[in-house]
Amino acid sequence: MTANSAAAAARATVYGYPRQGQHRELKKAIEGHWKGRVTADSLRATAAELRAAHWRALAAAGIDEVPTGDFSYYDHVLDTTVMVGAIPERHRAAVDADPLGGYFAMARGTQDVAPLEMTKWFDTNYHYLVPELGPDTVFTANPAQQVAELKEALALGLTARPVLVGPITYLLLAKPAPDVAGDFDPLTLLDRLLPVYAEVLADLRAAGAQWVQVDEPALVQDRTPAQLDAAARAYRDLGALTDRPKLLVASYFDRLGEALPVLAKAPVDGLALDFTEAASANLDALAAVGGLPGKRLVAGVVNGRNIWINDLEKSLATLGTLLGLADRVDVAASCSLMHVPLDTSVERDIDPQILRWLAFARQKTAEIVTLARGLSRGTAAIEGELSTNRAALASRAASPITRDPAVRARAEAVTDADARRSQPYAERAAAQRARLGLPLLPTTTIGSFPQTTELRTARADLRAGRIDTAGYEERIKAEIQEVVSFQEKTGIDVLVHGEPERNDMVQYFAEQLTGYLATQHGWVQSYGTRYVRPPILAGDISRPEPMTVRWTSYAQSLSDRPVKGMLTGPVTMLAWSFVRDDQPLGGTARQVALALRDEVNDLEAAGTAVIQVDEPALRETLPLRAADHGAYLAWATEAFRLSTAGVAPGTQIHTHMCYAEFGDIVQAIDDLDADVISLEAARSHMQVARELAAHGYPREAGPGVYDIHSPRVPSAEEAAELLRTGLEAIPAERLWVNPDCGLKTRGWPETRASLENLVTAARTVRGELPSV
Ligand code: GLN
Ligand code: ZN
Repeated sequence: MTANSAAAAARATVYGYPRQGQHRELKKAIEGHWKGRVTADSLRATAAELRAAHWRALAAAGIDEVPTGDFSYYDHVLDTTVMVGAIPERHRAAVDADPLGGYFAMARGTQDVAPLEMTKWFDTNYHYLVPELGPDTVFTANPAQQVAELKEALALGLTARPVLVGPITYLLLAKPAPDVAGDFDPLTLLDRLLPVYAEVLADLRAAGAQWVQVDEPALVQDRTPAQLDAAARAYRDLGALTDRPKLLVASYFDRLGEALPVLAKAPVDGLALDFTEAASANLDALAAVGGLPGKRLVAGVVNGRNIWINDLEKSLATLGTLLGLADRVDVAASCSLMHVPLDTSVERDIDPQILRWLAFARQKTAEIVTLARGLSRGTAAIEGELSTNRAALASRAASPITRDPAVRARAEAVTDADARRSQPYAERAAAQRARLGLPLLPTTTIGSFPQTTELRTARADLRAGRIDTAGYEERIKAEIQEVVSFQEKTGIDVLVHGEPERNDMVQYFAEQLTGYLATQHGWVQSYGTRYVRPPILAGDISRPEPMTVRWTSYAQSLSDRPVKGMLTGPVTMLAWSFVRDDQPLGGTARQVALALRDEVNDLEAAGTAVIQVDEPALRETLPLRAADHGAYLAWATEAFRLSTAGVAPGTQIHTHMCYAEFGDIVQAIDDLDADVISLEAARSHMQVARELAAHGYPREAGPGVYDIHSPRVPSAEEAAELLRTGLEAIPAERLWVNPDCGLKTRGWPETRASLENLVTAARTVRGELPSV
C-alpha cells in the first residue's frame, strides 16, 4: 500500500480505557470511601490522578485524540442517568443532599432504598445500571462531570473528545420504573430527551470540544422500523443544531445492518464502525450506501475486547479498502478498551514466547498508533512493527500449544452419535428411577454451600505458604464432612459436596486444563468495584487428569444417599474466559466438551449416579442479532450434549441455569437433553414452570423455590405454596425441589434455616399428592 494524501493525517484514537489503574487504585479508593476511610475529596483526587495518568499514557503512546467521560466511579450508564437528570424518585433526596453519596446509593442501594437494577452490557461481561423511566420522567441537563473532565484533558494540552452514551441507546437500555403501570416504552421519551442532549453538546462545545462521540451500540441489535425511525429523527435533530461540536456516532460489538443507511444519511459528521468480527458485513453495507462522502470514518480494526495481538497486515488491508469510502479514515479499537486488562508487560508467570501473542489495553493502543502511521505514511514507515507482528503471529500459529494433534484428531472424529445419549429419555428415566429410588418431589441444591471466611483464608494461607497442600486439603475435607452431614440430617435427597475447593466455577477448571492460561494482573471490570480476572483459553484443550473425582468420591464415601458430581459446562467455560480468535468458537467449545466428557465418564466410573453440568452462560452468549442465533445454539447445545452423552442410561444428568427469562432459548434448553434442569424461579413465582409446560418440556425440572439472592429465609409454607403452583404446570413425577442457584454467597444461618424449610415444604406437599 502506498501513502495516500486523503489519509495523510489518519488519527489514532480510542473510545475508552480501563478505569481501575495498574494497582486497582480506583477500586481501593472507592471501597475505602464506602468504609469511611477515604474522604470524598481524596477519592476525587485519586480519580483525577488516574484520569490524567491514562490520558498522558495514551498521548505518549501516540494517540492523537483521547477520550473523556469514559471514566466512571461506578458505571457510565448511571453517569448518563445523572447527566440527563433521570434520578429515580426514591433516590432524589439523597442525590440532592450529597451527589456522590446519592450516586453510590443508586448503584448499591441503602438499608431502606433499593438500588437500580443491574444487567449485562450487550454481550460483554460488564454490567450497567438500568435507567428507570416513566411517562412522568422529566429530564434536565447536568453535564458538569463531562465538562469538568474535558477541561482536565484540555488543560494537559491534549486533543480530547468527550464520549457520551447516545440518546437512542440510553432509552433502549432503560426499563419502566417500578411504579409505572401498564405498557410503557421508554423510547416515547425521545422528544423530551433530545433537548437535554442539545444542551450538553452546547456546553461541551463551549468548554472546547471540537468533536463529541455519541455511542449507539444498541443500533447493532435487530431494530424495528419505529426504532430506526427514532434514530433517524434523533440524529436529524441533533445534526441540525447550530451550536454544537462535530458529532461522531459510534457503533460496536456487531454490524450496524439496517441502521447503517439511517446514520449514513443523517447530518452528523462521522461514524465509528466495528471492523473486527463485523468487518465484512460493515464493509458491504458501507459500499452499498455509496460510502460516507463528506464524513469521517473511525475504523475499529483492533479488537477491543479480546486479548490477542492484531493481524496488522490484515487490518491495513481493511483500512486501505476503507480509504475510498469516506472523507477521512481514522484508526481505533472496535470498542472501549475497558473490556480488556491494562498491560501484558507486568505478567510474570506467562511464558514470554506466549506473552508476545497477547495484547491488553496498552499494547492495543500501540497497535492502533502503528496502524494509523502505516495508513498515513505507507507500510515502509512501520516495517519494523510489521515484521515483529508477522513473527509473533507465525509463532502462535505453529505452536504446539495451539496445535495439539491428538486433541484435533479427536475433535474431528466426533460423530453425531457421540452427542446423543444411547437411550431415549423415557428409558433413561425408568433406569434412573430404579437406580436412585428417590421420593416424588426430590430435594437437592445447586452445588455450592457458603464460601466462609475460613475457606477463603485457607486458600490464601496455601498461596502464601502458611499451610501446605495436605493442611489445605484437610480443611476442605472437614468442610465437606460438615456439608454432607448437614444435608443428611436435614433430609435432602440428592446431596452435593458443596464446592469448598473452588475459587470460581470457571477458574477452578481452567487451572486444571491444558491450553488455558491464568494472568496475575489481568483484571477487568465486571461491575462497580468488582473486577474479575478471566482465564485465557489460548490453545488446544485437554485434561491431563481427573479434576473433581476425588472430592466427589470423598463426599460419596460419607453418605449412602447419592452425591451429585458438579461441573461447569463448555459454553460457560468459554463465556467467562478470553477465547482464542484463530478458530471458530464452536471448535473451541467442542474441545472443552471432550475434556469435560472424560471428567463426566470418570465420575460415572467412580460410582457417581447424578452429575450436574452447569450452563448459566448459555443465554448471555446469545449473539446480538437473531440471524446468528441458530448457528450459535447449534454448536452450544452440541457441546453440552457431547460432554454429557457418554454415560449409561441410569446415570442422571442435571443442568442448571440461573435466570428466569429464557423464552428465546427454550427450544435450546430442550435440545440439551438433560434429564433434570434447575432454574431460577422464586422471584418470578414459578412463571418458568408454566413456560416450560407451554413449550411441552418433556423431562424433569426444578424451578427454584428459594431465592438465594437475598439473606431472607423463605418460610416452609411459602415454599410449599410455590411448589403447589409448580405442580399446576409440571406433574409430581417430574418436579424437583431446590433453591434458585448456588449458596456460596450466603451465610450458614440463613442457608440452614432455608433448606430445612425447603425439605419441610417438600414433605408437606408430598403428603397432599393423591396416592397411586
Ligand atoms: N454449581 C454452581 C454453584 O452452585 C452454579 C453456579 C451458577 O449457576 N452460577 O455455585
Ligand atoms: Zn445459578
